[in-house]
Amino acid sequence: MCGIVGYTGAKKAAPILIEGLTGLEYRGYDSSGVAVLENGQIKMVKAKGRLKNLVELTDNGERLPGTVGIGHTRWATHGEPSDVNSHPHISKSGRFAVVHNGIIENYLELRDFLIARGYEFVSQTDTEVIAHLIEYYYNGDPVETLRKVMNKLEGSYALGVLSCYAPDTFYAARKDSPLVVGLGEHENFIASDMPAVLKYTRRFLLIDDGEIVAVSPTAASVFNRNREPVEKQPFTVEWDVSAAEKNGYPHFMLKEIYEQPKAVEATLSPRIKNGDIVLDTIAWTEEQMRTFDKINVVACGSAYHAGMIGKYFIEKLCRIPVEIDVASEFRYRAPIVDNRTLTVVISQSGETADTLAGLREAKKLGSRVLSIVNVVGSSIARESDDVLYTWAGPEIAVATTKGYTSQVAALMLLGLKLARVRGTVTQAQFTELLGELQALPDQIRAVLDRNVEQIQYLSSVYFASNDAFFIGRGMDYALALEGALKLKEISYIHAESYAAGELKHGTISLIEKGSLVIAVAVDKRLQDKMRSNIKEVKTRGATVIALAPVGNNLASEVDHVVTLPDCGEDTYPVVAVTALQLLGYYIASARGCDIDKPRNLAKSVTVE
Ligand code: GLU
Repeated sequence: MCGIVGYTGAKKAAPILIEGLTGLEYRGYDSSGVAVLENGQIKMVKAKGRLKNLVELTDNGERLPGTVGIGHTRWATHGEPSDVNSHPHISKSGRFAVVHNGIIENYLELRDFLIARGYEFVSQTDTEVIAHLIEYYYNGDPVETLRKVMNKLEGSYALGVLSCYAPDTFYAARKDSPLVVGLGEHENFIASDMPAVLKYTRRFLLIDDGEIVAVSPTAASVFNRNREPVEKQPFTVEWDVSAAEKNGYPHFMLKEIYEQPKAVEATLSPRIKNGDIVLDTIAWTEEQMRTFDKINVVACGSAYHAGMIGKYFIEKLCRIPVEIDVASEFRYRAPIVDNRTLTVVISQSGETADTLAGLREAKKLGSRVLSIVNVVGSSIARESDDVLYTWAGPEIAVATTKGYTSQVAALMLLGLKLARVRGTVTQAQFTELLGELQALPDQIRAVLDRNVEQIQYLSSVYFASNDAFFIGRGMDYALALEGALKLKEISYIHAESYAAGELKHGTISLIEKGSLVIAVAVDKRLQDKMRSNIKEVKTRGATVIALAPVGNNLASEVDHVVTLPDCGEDTYPVVAVTALQLLGYYIASARGCDIDKPRNLAKSVTVE
């Protein structure tokens, strides 16, 4: 959830650490801190609140002279956000400092163990036990000591450890929380995510669960849980730092909305070759593709909504049942999964803890797991049998946009491929749908060109609403869910979404004069039914904004119609969602919200 960075080299560490933490701000945090080694002593500064507090306290890091150090942005799980609970945490004697991302589940037991041995605790965090345990087990060999400590820890962690005994080296380890090593020229880094240090290097080592790394300016030595050295091949990222900058847009979210044509194109076009779909990263044979008798989709948040679109699309085209679960529910409901089930897990970051746990559960039950993820080398990508990467590029805004649309595009590609192999579409249907997929980037561009002004206007009229109700049927219902989530997460307007036919079974009692209803009525086949549902809320005084395709005749029924370009009847969600994202964005902007970093949210949710 939070962010970790580490640096060792010839430069002053603290400014680089703070810069790295700035690059991780999107992950969500409530406090921050850094520790550096200065003449064999650990110096630490930490503060509750925004990074600017740390910047002020340290003069942007300049006041701390050391050349090796670790830094942290915290997203509190144990103990309130406060100066003392901020990381790093320091051992009793001050010889070790620790930054931690994750949760130590057995920290109470470890705390009692340490208290019985004379250790005192100053914070309420679970993390502090790690600092004291390192000191307790220290035997002159930091890697061995960390190994011992890791054997005691239950839960999830990415760790950065600074020791007063190592003048230019720091240590790192991970289990179920993200961590990479960045390789520079006579300097090396660790980070929770690559953009944090992309300015300095594009070469990375991906650290696996249970591994420990000793990082010095000239080497990053990796060890497995048996303390044996591990040879790792460095991995070079394709995109550069400009992909993680705003390029003149006021927010990353808007930039990323505008990047959607490119993201969808990059996800689709390399896989469409000579009129066919080639999923060359997927190792199944066509025979295996025919043997699945069920698909399970497991995801959280917007990725879950993307999965819902996938369900409608795949069931219709492939005639195969698709179950969809919120990942945090999946593993505790005794799911019916076996080796004839294909499990599709979806996560932008590839680090979502609930989704990762769902993936492991599905594998345990014998299912083949395909993941749809955006971050190459992420935990979910590595643990899946097959990966279908969305090539959306780095997504920085907490509220996903291009991540979501490229997930939907990838699911459609998968569905269409399965349909072809399983013989449930004719060649003509296949070719037509493939054409529809290829037209998506231009159709999104059309929304960005033609609908944006009206959406800005509507946002300026309705931004002060207290509530909003999104209704839709079929895929439009899945879009309504995503539209409502987008609006509520960034504008803090209470927003609900309902299958349009369901409203009258309870929630319609909330509709009164002036209630804002967004009617997603893009599916032409369901438009008459939607018209009835719109009438139901209009009769009760609602103000209705309809989202509908070109040629609709809803103008006389509603207050405003946002008319979308002509799109394919099965692929339109990728286009229509753009209008809903823009609505959420401009309403949040009119309300002056912190759009890229909404309160209480984190980009990559690495705790359960
Ligand atoms: N569980 C730790 C704490 O509450 C770390 C939280 C984090 O990942 O930022 O301090």
